[in-house]
Amino acid sequence: MSKHYDVIAIGGGSGGLAATKQAAKHGARCAVIEAGRLGGACVNVGCVPKKVMWYAASLGHALEDAKDYGFSLSHGGLNWAKLKQGRDAYVQRLNQIHLDSLDTAGVDFIPGHARFIDQHTVEINGVAYQADHIIIASGGRPLTPQLPGGEFGITSDGFFELETLPQKVAIVGGGYIAVEIAGVLNALGSQVDMLLRGDQLLSSFDALIRDTLRQQMEQDGVGIHPCYNLETVTLGRNDKLVLVPHERPELSGYDCLIWAIGRIPNSDRLNVEAIDLICDASGAILVDEFQNTNIDNIYAIGDVTGRATLTPVAIAAGRKLADRLFGGQSDSRLDYHNIPSVVFAHPPIGTVGLTEAQAREQFGSQVKIYQTRFTGMYHALTRHKTKTAMKLVCVGAEENIVGCHMVGHGCDEMLQGFAVAIKMGATKADFDNTVAIHPTSAEEWVTLK
Ligand SMILES: Cc1cc2nc3c(=O)[nH]c(=O)nc-3n(C[C@H](O)[C@H](O)[C@H](O)COP(=O)(O)OP(=O)(O)OC[C@H]3O[C@@H](n4cnc5c(N)ncnc54)[C@H](O)[C@@H]3O)c2cc1C
Repeated sequence: MSKHYDVIAIGGGSGGLAATKQAAKHGARCAVIEAGRLGGACVNVGCVPKKVMWYAASLGHALEDAKDYGFSLSHGGLNWAKLKQGRDAYVQRLNQIHLDSLDTAGVDFIPGHARFIDQHTVEINGVAYQADHIIIASGGRPLTPQLPGGEFGITSDGFFELETLPQKVAIVGGGYIAVEIAGVLNALGSQVDMLLRGDQLLSSFDALIRDTLRQQMEQDGVGIHPCYNLETVTLGRNDKLVLVPHERPELSGYDCLIWAIGRIPNSDRLNVEAIDLICDASGAILVDEFQNTNIDNIYAIGDVTGRATLTPVAIAAGRKLADRLFGGQSDSRLDYHNIPSVVFAHPPIGTVGLTEAQAREQFGSQVKIYQTRFTGMYHALTRHKTKTAMKLVCVGAEENIVGCHMVGHGCDEMLQGFAVAIKMGATKADFDNTVAIHPTSAEEWVTLK
Protein backbone atom coordinates (compact mmCIF):
# COMPACT_ATOMS: atom_id res chain seq x y z
CA MET A 1 0.00 0.00 0.00
CA SER A 2 1.33 3.49 -0.82
CA LYS A 3 2.02 6.00 1.94
CA HIS A 4 -0.24 9.07 2.02
CA TYR A 5 0.75 12.65 2.92
CA ASP A 6 -0.98 16.02 3.01
CA VAL A 7 1.84 17.43 0.92
CA ILE A 8 4.90 16.11 -0.87
CA ALA A 9 7.66 18.37 -2.25
CA ILE A 10 9.69 17.09 -5.18
CA GLY A 11 13.14 18.53 -4.54
CA GLY A 12 14.96 19.14 -1.26
CA GLY A 13 16.47 22.48 -2.25
CA SER A 14 15.66 25.96 -0.99
CA GLY A 15 12.00 25.89 -2.06
CA GLY A 16 11.03 22.30 -1.18
CA LEU A 17 12.61 22.44 2.28
CA ALA A 18 11.03 25.79 3.14
CA ALA A 19 7.56 24.83 1.89
CA THR A 20 7.35 21.52 3.74
CA LYS A 21 8.80 22.83 7.02
CA GLN A 22 6.28 25.68 6.97
CA ALA A 23 3.44 23.28 6.13
CA ALA A 24 4.53 21.02 9.02
CA LYS A 25 4.32 24.04 11.36
CA HIS A 26 0.66 24.29 10.37
CA GLY A 27 0.20 20.61 11.26
CA ALA A 28 0.40 19.06 7.78
CA ARG A 29 1.93 15.60 7.24
CA CYS A 30 4.78 16.28 4.83
CA ALA A 31 7.55 14.59 2.89
CA VAL A 32 10.47 15.90 0.83
CA ILE A 33 11.92 13.83 -2.00
CA GLU A 34 15.50 14.56 -3.00
CA ALA A 35 17.48 12.85 -5.75
CA GLY A 36 20.81 14.44 -4.88
CA ARG A 37 22.23 16.29 -1.90
CA LEU A 38 19.89 18.07 0.53
CA GLY A 39 19.97 21.84 0.20
CA GLY A 40 19.81 21.82 -3.60
CA ALA A 41 21.78 24.13 -5.87
CA CYS A 42 22.19 26.91 -3.31
CA VAL A 43 23.95 24.82 -0.69
CA ASN A 44 25.88 22.44 -2.93
CA VAL A 45 26.76 24.16 -6.21
CA GLY A 46 25.47 27.72 -5.87
CA CYS A 47 25.28 30.56 -3.38
CA VAL A 48 27.12 28.89 -0.50
CA PRO A 49 30.30 27.46 -2.11
CA LYS A 50 30.33 30.46 -4.47
CA LYS A 51 30.31 32.91 -1.55
CA VAL A 52 33.14 31.00 0.16
CA MET A 53 35.17 31.40 -3.03
CA TRP A 54 34.23 35.09 -3.19
CA TYR A 55 35.51 35.57 0.36
CA ALA A 56 38.77 33.83 -0.59
CA ALA A 57 39.13 36.09 -3.63
CA SER A 58 38.31 39.20 -1.56
CA LEU A 59 41.02 38.20 0.92
CA GLY A 60 43.41 37.93 -2.02
CA HIS A 61 42.67 41.58 -2.89
CA ALA A 62 42.84 42.61 0.78
CA LEU A 63 46.28 41.03 1.20
CA GLU A 64 47.59 43.24 -1.59
CA ASP A 65 45.84 46.33 -0.19
CA ALA A 66 47.23 45.61 3.29
CA LYS A 67 50.78 46.18 2.04
CA ASP A 68 49.80 49.70 0.99
CA TYR A 69 48.46 50.29 4.50
CA GLY A 70 51.93 49.49 5.85
CA PHE A 71 51.77 45.79 6.65
CA SER A 72 54.84 43.69 5.82
CA LEU A 73 53.34 40.55 4.44
CA SER A 74 54.80 37.53 2.87
CA HIS A 75 52.63 34.55 2.15
CA GLY A 76 53.15 31.36 0.25
CA GLY A 77 50.22 31.90 -2.10
CA LEU A 78 46.91 30.14 -2.15
CA ASN A 79 46.60 26.53 -1.05
CA TRP A 80 43.69 25.60 -3.32
CA ALA A 81 43.38 22.08 -1.90
CA LYS A 82 42.97 23.49 1.63
CA LEU A 83 40.40 26.02 0.46
CA LYS A 84 38.40 23.33 -1.37
CA GLN A 85 38.61 20.93 1.55
CA GLY A 86 37.34 23.57 4.00
CA ARG A 87 34.58 24.63 1.64
CA ASP A 88 33.42 21.07 0.96
CA ALA A 89 33.42 20.27 4.69
CA TYR A 90 31.29 23.37 5.35
CA VAL A 91 28.81 22.29 2.67
CA GLN A 92 28.63 18.79 4.18
CA ARG A 93 27.86 20.30 7.58
CA LEU A 94 25.01 22.22 5.97
CA ASN A 95 23.70 19.02 4.31
CA GLN A 96 23.53 17.42 7.77
CA ILE A 97 21.94 20.52 9.33
CA HIS A 98 19.20 20.38 6.68
CA LEU A 99 18.62 16.67 7.35
CA ASP A 100 18.39 17.31 11.11
CA SER A 101 16.04 20.25 10.57
CA LEU A 102 13.61 18.02 8.63
CA ASP A 103 13.65 15.58 11.51
CA THR A 104 13.01 18.38 14.03
CA ALA A 105 10.16 19.74 11.90
CA GLY A 106 8.59 16.28 11.55
CA VAL A 107 8.99 16.16 7.77
CA ASP A 108 9.79 12.75 6.22
CA PHE A 109 12.85 12.63 3.97
CA ILE A 110 12.63 10.27 0.99
CA PRO A 111 15.89 9.93 -0.96
CA GLY A 112 15.52 9.16 -4.66
CA HIS A 113 14.24 10.46 -7.96
CA ALA A 114 10.50 11.20 -8.19
CA ARG A 115 8.32 10.62 -11.25
CA PHE A 116 4.63 11.33 -11.57
CA ILE A 117 2.26 8.38 -11.92
CA ASP A 118 -0.90 10.45 -11.64
CA GLN A 119 -1.82 13.79 -10.14
CA HIS A 120 -1.79 12.47 -6.57
CA THR A 121 0.95 9.83 -6.89
CA VAL A 122 4.70 9.88 -7.38
CA GLU A 123 7.01 6.90 -7.63
CA ILE A 124 10.45 6.75 -6.06
CA ASN A 125 12.65 3.66 -6.49
CA GLY A 126 9.62 1.54 -7.34
CA VAL A 127 7.57 2.71 -4.32
CA ALA A 128 4.45 4.86 -4.77
CA TYR A 129 3.70 7.81 -2.47
CA GLN A 130 0.44 9.71 -2.50
CA ALA A 131 -0.44 13.23 -1.40
CA ASP A 132 -3.37 15.62 -1.49
CA HIS A 133 -0.99 18.35 -2.67
CA ILE A 134 2.27 18.05 -4.60
CA ILE A 135 4.77 20.91 -4.83
CA ILE A 136 7.29 20.72 -7.65
CA ALA A 137 10.51 22.34 -6.44
CA SER A 138 12.95 20.50 -8.68
CA GLY A 139 15.13 23.52 -9.56
CA GLY A 140 17.29 23.74 -12.66
CA ARG A 141 20.64 22.65 -14.04
CA PRO A 142 23.36 24.30 -16.14
CA LEU A 143 23.04 24.30 -19.91
CA THR A 144 25.81 22.91 -22.09
CA PRO A 145 26.04 23.71 -25.80
CA GLN A 146 25.66 21.25 -28.66
CA LEU A 147 28.85 21.97 -30.56
CA PRO A 148 31.87 19.89 -31.56
CA GLY A 149 34.21 19.70 -28.58
CA GLY A 150 31.56 21.01 -26.17
CA GLU A 151 32.41 18.09 -23.88
CA PHE A 152 35.84 19.60 -23.15
CA GLY A 153 34.11 22.27 -21.05
CA ILE A 154 32.71 22.10 -17.53
CA THR A 155 29.82 24.06 -16.00
CA SER A 156 29.48 25.93 -12.71
CA ASP A 157 28.88 22.52 -11.11
CA GLY A 158 32.30 21.40 -12.38
CA PHE A 159 33.91 24.62 -11.18
CA PHE A 160 33.24 23.48 -7.61
CA GLU A 161 34.98 20.17 -8.33
CA LEU A 162 38.24 21.66 -9.64
CA GLU A 163 41.14 20.13 -7.70
CA THR A 164 43.64 22.79 -8.75
CA LEU A 165 43.54 26.44 -9.72
CA PRO A 166 43.53 26.53 -13.55
CA GLN A 167 46.25 28.68 -15.09
CA LYS A 168 44.32 29.93 -18.10
CA VAL A 169 40.52 29.81 -18.22
CA ALA A 170 37.90 30.67 -20.80
CA ILE A 171 34.42 31.39 -19.48
CA VAL A 172 31.63 31.41 -22.03
CA GLY A 173 28.73 33.64 -20.99
CA GLY A 174 28.13 37.13 -19.66
CA GLY A 175 25.51 36.54 -16.96
CA TYR A 176 26.02 36.83 -13.23
CA ILE A 177 27.39 33.31 -12.75
CA ALA A 178 30.03 33.91 -15.47
CA VAL A 179 30.97 37.26 -13.93
CA GLU A 180 31.25 35.82 -10.43
CA ILE A 181 33.43 32.86 -11.45
CA ALA A 182 35.62 35.16 -13.58
CA GLY A 183 36.14 37.51 -10.61
CA VAL A 184 37.08 34.68 -8.27
CA LEU A 185 39.54 33.01 -10.63
CA ASN A 186 41.11 36.32 -11.63
CA ALA A 187 41.64 37.34 -8.01
CA LEU A 188 43.10 33.96 -7.12
CA GLY A 189 45.66 34.09 -9.93
CA SER A 190 44.21 32.54 -13.11
CA GLN A 191 44.42 34.26 -16.46
CA VAL A 192 40.75 34.68 -17.41
CA ASP A 193 39.03 35.36 -20.73
CA MET A 194 35.27 35.89 -20.98
CA LEU A 195 33.58 35.13 -24.27
CA LEU A 196 30.27 36.91 -24.77
CA ARG A 197 27.59 36.08 -27.30
CA GLY A 198 26.43 39.72 -27.42
CA ASP A 199 28.43 42.83 -26.65
CA GLN A 200 27.53 43.35 -22.98
CA LEU A 201 28.30 41.77 -19.65
CA LEU A 202 25.21 41.55 -17.42
CA SER A 203 23.01 42.88 -20.22
CA SER A 204 19.85 43.15 -18.10
CA PHE A 205 21.54 45.39 -15.51
CA ASP A 206 21.60 49.19 -15.42
CA ALA A 207 24.16 50.60 -17.89
CA LEU A 208 26.07 52.60 -15.24
CA ILE A 209 26.59 49.50 -13.13
CA ARG A 210 27.51 47.07 -15.88
CA ASP A 211 29.89 49.54 -17.58
CA THR A 212 31.63 50.36 -14.29
CA LEU A 213 32.10 46.68 -13.51
CA ARG A 214 33.35 45.89 -16.99
CA GLN A 215 35.98 48.66 -16.83
CA GLN A 216 37.10 47.32 -13.47
CA MET A 217 37.33 43.74 -14.68
CA GLU A 218 39.34 44.80 -17.74
CA GLN A 219 41.61 46.92 -15.55
CA ASP A 220 42.14 43.86 -13.35
CA GLY A 221 43.26 41.84 -16.37
CA VAL A 222 40.15 39.88 -17.38
CA GLY A 223 39.98 39.58 -21.18
CA ILE A 224 36.47 40.36 -22.41
CA HIS A 225 35.64 39.23 -25.94
CA PRO A 226 32.25 40.51 -27.13
CA CYS A 227 30.26 38.87 -29.96
CA TYR A 228 32.49 35.80 -29.81
CA ASN A 229 30.37 32.99 -31.16
CA LEU A 230 32.18 29.75 -30.57
CA GLU A 231 31.80 27.02 -33.23
CA THR A 232 34.27 24.33 -32.19
CA VAL A 233 36.56 23.42 -29.32
CA THR A 234 39.60 21.26 -30.03
CA LEU A 235 42.62 19.93 -28.16
CA GLY A 236 45.83 21.68 -29.16
CA ARG A 237 49.47 21.33 -28.10
CA ASN A 238 50.10 19.99 -24.59
CA ASP A 239 46.41 19.15 -24.25
CA LYS A 240 45.51 22.84 -24.08
CA LEU A 241 42.14 23.85 -25.48
CA VAL A 242 41.72 25.81 -28.70
CA LEU A 243 38.56 27.86 -29.23
CA VAL A 244 37.43 28.30 -32.82
CA PRO A 245 34.76 30.99 -33.33
CA HIS A 246 32.76 32.20 -36.30
CA GLU A 247 34.80 34.71 -38.35
CA ARG A 248 37.06 35.74 -35.44
CA PRO A 249 40.61 34.79 -34.49
CA GLU A 250 41.10 31.54 -32.57
CA LEU A 251 42.01 31.68 -28.90
CA SER A 252 44.23 28.96 -27.46
CA GLY A 253 46.26 27.69 -24.53
CA TYR A 254 43.38 27.12 -22.07
CA ASP A 255 43.57 24.43 -19.44
CA CYS A 256 39.95 25.03 -18.43
CA LEU A 257 36.77 26.00 -20.28
CA ILE A 258 33.61 26.87 -18.33
CA TRP A 259 30.15 27.02 -19.90
CA ALA A 260 28.07 29.63 -18.09
CA ILE A 261 25.42 30.03 -20.77
CA GLY A 262 22.27 29.69 -18.69
CA ARG A 263 20.24 27.13 -16.78
CA ILE A 264 17.27 24.98 -17.73
CA PRO A 265 14.39 23.99 -15.46
CA ASN A 266 14.31 20.40 -14.19
CA SER A 267 10.83 19.65 -15.54
CA ASP A 268 11.84 17.12 -18.18
CA ARG A 269 12.61 14.14 -15.93
CA LEU A 270 9.43 14.14 -13.84
CA ASN A 271 7.18 12.31 -16.31
CA VAL A 272 4.90 15.38 -16.39
CA GLU A 273 3.27 13.89 -19.50
CA ALA A 274 1.39 11.56 -17.13
CA ILE A 275 -0.48 14.55 -15.70
CA ASP A 276 -0.56 16.89 -18.73
CA LEU A 277 1.32 19.60 -16.87
CA ILE A 278 1.89 22.73 -18.95
CA CYS A 279 5.43 24.08 -19.36
CA ASP A 280 6.67 26.89 -21.61
CA ALA A 281 9.13 26.39 -24.50
CA SER A 282 12.12 26.61 -22.13
CA GLY A 283 10.68 23.89 -19.89
CA ALA A 284 9.67 26.29 -17.10
CA ILE A 285 6.47 25.13 -15.38
CA LEU A 286 3.73 27.72 -15.88
CA VAL A 287 2.21 29.02 -12.66
CA ASP A 288 -0.15 31.82 -11.70
CA GLU A 289 0.56 34.37 -8.97
CA PHE A 290 -0.37 31.78 -6.30
CA GLN A 291 2.13 29.19 -7.67
CA ASN A 292 -0.80 27.10 -9.02
CA THR A 293 -0.06 25.01 -12.12
CA ASN A 294 -2.79 23.98 -14.56
CA ILE A 295 -3.45 20.90 -12.38
CA ASP A 296 -5.65 21.52 -9.34
CA ASN A 297 -3.53 20.07 -6.54
CA ILE A 298 -0.09 20.60 -8.10
CA TYR A 299 2.06 23.71 -7.53
CA ALA A 300 5.53 24.80 -8.64
CA ILE A 301 8.01 27.08 -6.87
CA GLY A 302 11.57 28.27 -7.34
CA ASP A 303 13.88 27.85 -10.31
CA VAL A 304 11.68 25.28 -12.05
CA THR A 305 9.21 28.12 -12.74
CA GLY A 306 11.97 30.22 -14.36
CA ARG A 307 10.90 33.33 -12.39
CA ALA A 308 13.43 35.36 -10.36
CA THR A 309 15.70 32.36 -9.91
CA LEU A 310 17.13 33.19 -6.50
CA THR A 311 17.21 31.26 -3.23
CA PRO A 312 15.20 33.72 -1.11
CA VAL A 313 12.53 33.79 -3.82
CA ALA A 314 12.14 29.99 -3.76
CA ILE A 315 12.01 30.05 0.06
CA ALA A 316 9.49 32.89 0.26
CA ALA A 317 7.25 31.41 -2.46
CA GLY A 318 7.32 28.02 -0.65
CA ARG A 319 6.44 29.49 2.74
CA LYS A 320 3.65 31.66 1.33
CA LEU A 321 2.21 28.65 -0.49
CA ALA A 322 2.27 26.55 2.71
CA ASP A 323 0.54 29.39 4.59
CA ARG A 324 -2.17 29.44 1.93
CA LEU A 325 -2.70 25.67 1.76
CA PHE A 326 -2.46 24.84 5.47
CA GLY A 327 -2.37 28.11 7.44
CA GLY A 328 -5.79 29.46 6.56
CA GLN A 329 -4.26 32.46 4.71
CA SER A 330 -6.22 32.27 1.49
CA ASP A 331 -4.56 35.32 -0.10
CA SER A 332 -0.99 34.41 0.79
CA ARG A 333 1.37 34.77 -2.18
CA LEU A 334 4.79 36.17 -2.97
CA ASP A 335 4.97 39.67 -4.41
CA TYR A 336 7.57 39.39 -7.17
CA HIS A 337 8.07 43.17 -7.45
CA ASN A 338 11.23 44.87 -6.19
CA ILE A 339 13.23 41.72 -5.49
CA PRO A 340 16.75 42.83 -4.52
CA SER A 341 19.77 40.89 -5.69
CA VAL A 342 23.54 41.02 -5.43
CA VAL A 343 26.20 39.92 -7.88
CA PHE A 344 29.28 38.81 -5.97
CA ALA A 345 31.69 40.38 -8.41
CA HIS A 346 34.87 42.27 -7.48
CA PRO A 347 33.60 44.79 -6.50
CA PRO A 348 30.05 43.56 -5.81
CA ILE A 349 26.85 44.83 -7.39
CA GLY A 350 23.53 45.46 -5.65
CA THR A 351 20.33 46.15 -7.53
CA VAL A 352 16.62 46.49 -6.89
CA GLY A 353 13.77 47.74 -9.06
CA LEU A 354 13.76 49.21 -12.55
CA THR A 355 16.89 50.13 -14.48
CA GLU A 356 16.98 53.62 -15.98
CA ALA A 357 16.19 52.19 -19.43
CA GLN A 358 13.19 50.20 -18.10
CA ALA A 359 11.87 53.22 -16.20
CA ARG A 360 12.16 55.51 -19.23
CA GLU A 361 10.29 52.96 -21.33
CA GLN A 362 7.52 52.78 -18.73
CA PHE A 363 7.36 56.39 -17.48
CA GLY A 364 9.05 58.49 -20.22
CA SER A 365 9.81 62.07 -19.21
CA GLN A 366 8.57 61.56 -15.65
CA VAL A 367 11.85 59.81 -14.83
CA LYS A 368 14.54 61.66 -12.90
CA ILE A 369 17.97 60.14 -12.34
CA TYR A 370 20.42 60.85 -9.54
CA GLN A 371 23.81 59.26 -9.84
CA THR A 372 27.40 59.42 -8.69
CA ARG A 373 30.72 57.69 -9.34
CA PHE A 374 33.70 57.96 -7.02
CA THR A 375 36.62 56.14 -5.46
CA GLY A 376 35.76 55.04 -1.93
CA MET A 377 37.92 56.06 1.05
CA TYR A 378 39.09 52.46 1.52
CA HIS A 379 41.30 53.10 -1.49
CA ALA A 380 42.84 56.29 -0.10
CA LEU A 381 46.14 54.46 0.43
CA THR A 382 45.90 51.53 -1.99
CA ARG A 383 47.44 51.31 -5.45
CA HIS A 384 44.70 48.95 -6.66
CA LYS A 385 41.58 51.10 -6.78
CA THR A 386 37.99 50.20 -7.57
CA LYS A 387 35.22 52.59 -8.45
CA THR A 388 31.89 52.89 -6.68
CA ALA A 389 28.86 53.92 -8.77
CA MET A 390 25.32 54.55 -7.55
CA LYS A 391 22.10 55.37 -9.35
CA LEU A 392 18.66 56.25 -8.03
CA VAL A 393 15.79 56.05 -10.50
CA CYS A 394 12.86 58.29 -9.46
CA VAL A 395 9.45 58.88 -11.01
CA GLY A 396 6.93 61.72 -10.92
CA ALA A 397 6.55 64.91 -8.90
CA GLU A 398 6.89 62.97 -5.64
CA GLU A 399 10.10 61.39 -6.93
CA ASN A 400 9.07 57.89 -5.92
CA ILE A 401 12.08 55.64 -6.03
CA VAL A 402 11.57 52.81 -8.52
CA GLY A 403 15.15 51.66 -8.92
CA CYS A 404 18.36 51.63 -6.90
CA HIS A 405 21.58 50.31 -8.42
CA MET A 406 25.09 50.20 -7.03
CA VAL A 407 28.50 48.72 -7.62
CA GLY A 408 31.46 49.07 -5.29
CA HIS A 409 33.12 48.02 -2.10
CA GLY A 410 30.44 47.11 0.49
CA CYS A 411 27.45 47.28 -1.86
CA ASP A 412 26.63 43.62 -1.19
CA GLU A 413 25.82 44.43 2.43
CA MET A 414 24.46 47.93 1.67
CA LEU A 415 21.51 46.95 -0.50
CA GLN A 416 19.24 45.05 1.90
CA GLY A 417 18.25 48.10 3.99
CA PHE A 418 17.62 50.24 0.92
CA ALA A 419 15.49 47.43 -0.51
CA VAL A 420 13.26 47.65 2.60
CA ALA A 421 12.88 51.41 2.15
CA ILE A 422 12.00 51.05 -1.53
CA LYS A 423 9.54 48.23 -0.83
CA MET A 424 7.88 50.59 1.66
CA GLY A 425 7.52 53.24 -1.06
CA ALA A 426 10.38 55.61 -0.20
CA THR A 427 10.75 58.89 -2.10
CA LYS A 428 13.88 60.89 -2.83
CA ALA A 429 12.81 63.31 -0.05
CA ASP A 430 12.79 60.39 2.44
CA PHE A 431 16.38 59.64 1.49
CA ASP A 432 17.34 63.36 1.71
CA ASN A 433 15.72 63.67 5.16
CA THR A 434 17.82 60.82 6.55
CA VAL A 435 21.01 61.91 8.28
CA ALA A 436 24.17 60.53 6.68
CA ILE A 437 26.56 58.09 8.36
CA HIS A 438 30.06 59.47 7.95
CA PRO A 439 32.52 58.46 6.64
CA THR A 440 30.97 55.70 4.55
CA SER A 441 30.25 55.12 0.88
CA ALA A 442 26.61 54.50 1.80
CA GLU A 443 26.16 58.12 2.89
CA GLU A 444 26.20 59.12 -0.77
CA TRP A 445 22.69 57.66 -1.02
CA VAL A 446 21.25 60.39 1.21
CA THR A 447 23.25 63.27 -0.28
CA LEU A 448 22.68 62.69 -4.01
CA LYS A 449 22.13 65.95 -5.92
C1 LIG B 1 26.64 29.08 -9.35
C2 LIG B 1 25.35 29.59 -8.76
C3 LIG B 1 25.39 30.65 -7.89
C4 LIG B 1 24.21 31.10 -7.31
N1 LIG B 1 24.27 32.16 -6.46
C5 LIG B 1 23.16 32.62 -5.88
C6 LIG B 1 23.22 33.68 -4.94
O1 LIG B 1 24.28 34.21 -4.63
N2 LIG B 1 22.05 34.10 -4.37
C7 LIG B 1 20.85 33.53 -4.69
O2 LIG B 1 19.83 33.94 -4.13
N3 LIG B 1 20.76 32.51 -5.59
C8 LIG B 1 21.89 32.06 -6.17
N4 LIG B 1 21.82 31.00 -7.06
C9 LIG B 1 20.49 30.48 -7.42
C10 LIG B 1 19.95 29.53 -6.35
O3 LIG B 1 20.88 28.50 -6.12
C11 LIG B 1 18.62 28.97 -6.80
O4 LIG B 1 17.76 30.03 -7.13
C12 LIG B 1 17.94 28.13 -5.72
O5 LIG B 1 18.77 27.06 -5.35
C13 LIG B 1 16.60 27.62 -6.24
O6 LIG B 1 16.00 26.78 -5.30
P1 LIG B 1 14.99 25.64 -5.80
O7 LIG B 1 14.44 25.03 -4.55
O8 LIG B 1 14.07 26.16 -6.80
O9 LIG B 1 15.90 24.60 -6.56
P2 LIG B 1 17.20 23.82 -6.10
O10 LIG B 1 17.85 24.45 -4.94
O11 LIG B 1 18.01 23.62 -7.31
O12 LIG B 1 16.64 22.42 -5.58
C14 LIG B 1 16.05 21.52 -6.45
C15 LIG B 1 16.35 20.12 -5.94
O13 LIG B 1 15.48 19.23 -6.60
C16 LIG B 1 16.17 18.01 -6.80
N5 LIG B 1 15.45 17.29 -7.86
C17 LIG B 1 15.32 17.62 -9.17
N6 LIG B 1 14.52 16.73 -9.78
C18 LIG B 1 14.15 15.82 -8.86
C19 LIG B 1 13.32 14.66 -8.90
N7 LIG B 1 12.70 14.29 -10.01
N8 LIG B 1 13.16 13.95 -7.75
C20 LIG B 1 13.78 14.33 -6.60
N9 LIG B 1 14.56 15.41 -6.52
C21 LIG B 1 14.74 16.16 -7.64
C22 LIG B 1 17.56 18.45 -7.19
O14 LIG B 1 18.51 17.42 -6.93
C23 LIG B 1 17.75 19.66 -6.28
O15 LIG B 1 18.43 19.31 -5.09
C24 LIG B 1 22.98 30.48 -7.62
C25 LIG B 1 22.93 29.39 -8.49
C26 LIG B 1 24.11 28.94 -9.05
C27 LIG B 1 24.06 27.76 -9.97
